Amino acid sequence: MRSNISASIRREVIARAKFRCEYCLVHEDDFYLSGEVDHIRAIKHGGENLIGNLAYSCIHCNRSKGYDEAIVYNGKPVRLFNPRIDFWTDHFVLSEVTILPKTEIGEVTILVLKMNAEERVRERQVFKVEGTYPTNFDAASAE
Ligand SMILES: [Zn+2]
Repeated sequence: MRSNISASIRREVIARAKFRCEYCLVHEDDFYLSGEVDHIRAIKHGGENLIGNLAYSCIHCNRSKGYDEAIVYNGKPVRLFNPRIDFWTDHFVLSEVTILPKTEIGEVTILVLKMNAEERVRERQVFKVEGTYPTNFDAASAE
């Protein structure tokens, strides 16, 4: 179900994200399709159209995430990375352009969002060469 997010809230979410997907860190200038405002908690699961429940996302991360907020992993529920309460660098580290987990939250997020799908890593390699994909230093400085 799609919900109505006002243009002003959308602009605020995008600016707060510094124009990058808050999950895979690709800059919106490198998106093939326009970025999406993700409901961290899906409307279907009681999430609201409030700024604290919204994140900016590329279409790959957002479509892969779907309605998921947590999954059962190694026999127990593990929630996904939440850009509103978590720091990216607490859960992930870049090895060149491959996103490696530092925590179980990082592991399940990489898995569910297919963050290291081969074609996505290949794309990020191009963005890195072009200078638009961040380094670990950039990611930490942006927090
Ligand atoms: Zn993304």
